[in-house]
Amino acid sequence: MNKKAVILGAGISGLATAYWLKKDGCEVTVIEKSSQAGGAMVSAWENEFLVDYGPNSGLETTPLIRQLAEETGIADEMIYASSEGNKRYILRDGRLCALPTGAGAFLTTKLFSPKAKLRLLKEPFVGKSNDGYYQSIAEFVRRRLGQEFLDYAINPFVAGVYAGNPDDLSVKSAFPKLYRLEEVYGGLIKGMFKGAKERKQSAETSKQSARMFSFKNGMQTFPNAIAAKLEENLILGAEVKNIERDGGAYTVKYKKNGVMESVQADVVISTIPAHAACYLFQEMDTVLFSHLKSIYYPPVMVLYLGYKEESIRQPLDGFGYLIPQKENKSYLGAIWSSVIFPNRAPEGYASFTIFIGGARSPQLFDDMNKEDLIRQVLVEFQDVMKITGMPQFRVDKMWPRAIPQYNIGYIEHENYFEEFEKFHRGILLSGNYRGGISVGDCIKSSETVYKKALDLLQQV
Ligand SMILES: Cc1cc2nc3c(=O)[nH]c(=O)nc-3n(C[C@H](O)[C@H](O)[C@H](O)COP(=O)(O)OP(=O)(O)OC[C@H]3O[C@@H](n4cnc5c(N)ncnc54)[C@H](O)[C@@H]3O)c2cc1C
Repeated sequence: MNKKAVILGAGISGLATAYWLKKDGCEVTVIEKSSQAGGAMVSAWENEFLVDYGPNSGLETTPLIRQLAEETGIADEMIYASSEGNKRYILRDGRLCALPTGAGAFLTTKLFSPKAKLRLLKEPFVGKSNDGYYQSIAEFVRRRLGQEFLDYAINPFVAGVYAGNPDDLSVKSAFPKLYRLEEVYGGLIKGMFKGAKERKQSAETSKQSARMFSFKNGMQTFPNAIAAKLEENLILGAEVKNIERDGGAYTVKYKKNGVMESVQADVVISTIPAHAACYLFQEMDTVLFSHLKSIYYPPVMVLYLGYKEESIRQPLDGFGYLIPQKENKSYLGAIWSSVIFPNRAPEGYASFTIFIGGARSPQLFDDMNKEDLIRQVLVEFQDVMKITGMPQFRVDKMWPRAIPQYNIGYIEHENYFEEFEKFHRGILLSGNYRGGISVGDCIKSSETVYKKALDLLQQV
């Protein structure tokens, strides 16, 4: 096929799409601003610690993940979380409480009061709502499960997944599968049982039962392996500046080493974040510009710490912990990185990844200088973990615009993206602001986009 697709951005979304198009014999060029591929997936070995500055792991919710790993030659580097990773903690009243995973543990847990436990019995009898796109996850959970469940389960969970605020995220846009349990089965408890049968018939795995994966050298192994397969089809260090319609095709202009260059495309697939993509389409469609620009990406700081194991009194037997907003801490939670994937820290040391800020407390970065903020987080973290002494190893990374928030009314953006694609035939909008933010969701969405692009390439 001599028709050409140009893909903007070499995060996992752009790379997966490009890989499948190339495999089908299409001519592809991927243009990436940064000097390395991977986007949010950034891993580095530092002082014998393996640091993941972006995603620490992924959930294997689709067979596409292993398939891509096999085809790009990294299947034997793929590793799965240790069994300890199944145990998750929530901070309540300053103490770590294990999140119950079965009925027995639920009845005895101190995480929820007897009143909150009893309230769950009402859930199957709570009626349906019909405004999921305009209903926050907080309203949804309060209505179905009660305030305490919202405060001590969903609030920290939302911080862990989106670095988000439950009062703002739309239940149907941000948690479509959860909302579907109510929509289709009339409730969460009924849906969990009935939905399990349905899932058995599909190749997809639910997020609850999917295995957690990473790679021996961190998550960036994945985009790096796909990038290697793209070879000369990937241009790094090149910032896309403009897209112009050119008859039935498009001209994509980019700047590399200070020089403007251009490439012709029959199909353009943008996978760059909405806050950057908006400027590329500003002249073409001012309404699209407003939609993309208004998607909120809160700031998140990732703080990675290494301690001598002997200085930690808290037993390291879990994935880590999340912090409900009510606990009033300056960070969102901590992943016990070296417990989940044991090669993350040198012998005798343990490593932790701490998340700070997000939509819950974006103002922290304005109110406090970085060192004061980190100092405060260290005091709070060391208190919870019963650690004596300071970390032996410490690095951090600021993501000024970390994760798109699928907030109330997000459907209006999604509807407009579809209209835009119909009107501007040959342009496809992709990336983590459509179809889900997790690595697994990005890969699933990228497969859909690749198929759409293939269709378009065959038609032009
Ligand atoms: C701190 C953090 C922790 C996370 N943790 C997890 C986790 O544990 N598990 C999980 O499943 N997910 C996690 N996620 C989410 C997941 O990593 C991302 O949603 C996913 O990697 C996004 O991939 P993407 O390709 O859509 O976008 P990106 O990775 O953002 O890629 C977009 C690319 O576009 C490039 N670009 C931007 N502007 C231009 C331009 N003008 N020209 C050319 N290129 C441009 C960027 O440089 C970038 O490489 C996390 C995200 C963050 C930030």
